[in-house]
Amino acid sequence: MDNDENTTGSFSLDNAPGSALADLLVTKDENVRERLFTAARKTALSQFGNKIYIRGLIEFTNFCTNDCFYCGIRCANKNVKRYRLTNEQILACCHHGYALGFRTFVLQGGEDPFFTDEALCTLIRSIKKKYPDCALTLSIGERSRASYRALFDAGCDRYLLRHETANEKHYARLHPPKLSLASRLDCLSSLKETGYQVGTGFMVGSPFQTIDNIVEDLLFIKSFKPQMIGIGPFIPHHDTPFRDHKAGTLELTLRSIAILRLLMPKALIPATTALGTIAPEGREQGILAGANVVMPNLSPPEVRENYSLYDNKIYRDEESAEGLASLKAQMEKIGYNVVVDRGDYQA
Ligand code: SAM
Repeated sequence: MDNDENTTGSFSLDNAPGSALADLLVTKDENVRERLFTAARKTALSQFGNKIYIRGLIEFTNFCTNDCFYCGIRCANKNVKRYRLTNEQILACCHHGYALGFRTFVLQGGEDPFFTDEALCTLIRSIKKKYPDCALTLSIGERSRASYRALFDAGCDRYLLRHETANEKHYARLHPPKLSLASRLDCLSSLKETGYQVGTGFMVGSPFQTIDNIVEDLLFIKSFKPQMIGIGPFIPHHDTPFRDHKAGTLELTLRSIAILRLLMPKALIPATTALGTIAPEGREQGILAGANVVMPNLSPPEVRENYSLYDNKIYRDEESAEGLASLKAQMEKIGYNVVVDRGDYQA
């Protein structure tokens, strides 16, 4: 780690070896910790000013063919009330969101075969036709290269697919044998080659994760160079095999965000819902550690509780689009402004 302070008061992690990143994740030295957060915050401010970009999250299906051990909507969980939104319902969410100032819609769901390429392309075209000034992001898991190409050609701009963990053995402890890190990385390469702005990321504190695993994740992200990075704490769900595991900590998540901001100054990094779930001011703290995006929920209120990935997911007012005014106030309180903007990656 380079200790030279520059005008932003930052220290460079450009050539930092994994051991230096591990030290930053675990250090008990308050001075170093403070310098890390200050440097990350100043780096974000120098890239984005005090702007916070918002993305309207539409959780459009909770059907999923996958059985990830950590996830509340895994197919083996028979206690989930399954739902799919119709195209009309999804367009109504966009309509509502547009009026509130959202210029990015994120369609997230389980891996649901009901949504064929054809069905999704029709949906994408109608959203883009109605809202040509908006960016559209998909987060629907692993698909074929041809499928990613078709969705991109239909007008989708961005894709979020967390790698979950960059360590093969760890990947195998979080997923059934059908799923592999190799296939996940293949998908990420396809997405990038197709031309999407790509987001990847991982859960902090997922079961069996070590500090070295997190370092592998950070270094993977640095080398993959995604435009967006989604990280948040693992939180157990009572109907999964990981029900008795502990949640990831706020502190380790904030440190991971801060390190990523220093490694990837231009990346779009959300302060996630999971971060807001484990601590009352988790999202504000995420922003102060270098995050610059928040993703309020635009899904119809009656389905929100069925998109239950983990226990106690927040449905507080400010988490919903209706509570945007209070989200704005929270951000203003810490010196930031929520803006009406697509918030594209600036190379
Ligand atoms: N099916 C798509 C996929 O797999 O990318 C998108 C939906 S998936 C539920 C979105 C993300 O939720 C996953 O990438 C995972 O990191 C996160 N997630 C799932 N279960 C979680 C849990 N128990 N705690 C925190 N995050 C969780």
